Amino acid sequence: MATTADRLLDALRHDGFRITRARRAVCEVLAAAPRDHLSAGDIYALIGPDFDQSTVYRTLEALEEAGLVTHTHMGHGASIYHLAADAPHQHLVCSRCGATIDLDPTGMESLLAEVTRRTGFVPDPAHFALSGLCRDCAAKA
Ligand SMILES: [Zn+2]
Ligand SMILES: [Zn+2]
Ligand SMILES: [Zn+2]
Repeated sequence: MATTADRLLDALRHDGFRITRARRAVCEVLAAAPRDHLSAGDIYALIGPDFDQSTVYRTLEALEEAGLVTHTHMGHGASIYHLAADAPHQHLVCSRCGATIDLDPTGMESLLAEVTRRTGFVPDPAHFALSGLCRDCAAKA
């Protein structure tokens, strides 16, 4: 089921957050573009200048605390935000041209299980993008 802005707002309200116009605007942007790779700055740019940028950050933090939104570090720049209900995927970022590719993580489980078997460490690979070269850049390398 698609996550709607109202569902996000209900969850915020349930966690004791007041629903302000800015919070509603942030939730509407996230619900409308669930697969877009929006940074907090992108979201701020989309909801317009009548809101305070720190409100955008605090709303994203609240949504993360409520388990509705996750962030991924794509590289050296700002993190991007995804709805937690989205199909999980691994991000690949080209270190040369900046291209980003969404990878279905099916098949990675055995590698991750091997990491845990050897070290006890439980990886969370979606938190950071994998850095490397895209097909085009690799062909030129
Ligand atoms: Zn590239
Ligand atoms: Zn993504
Ligand atoms: Zn992080």
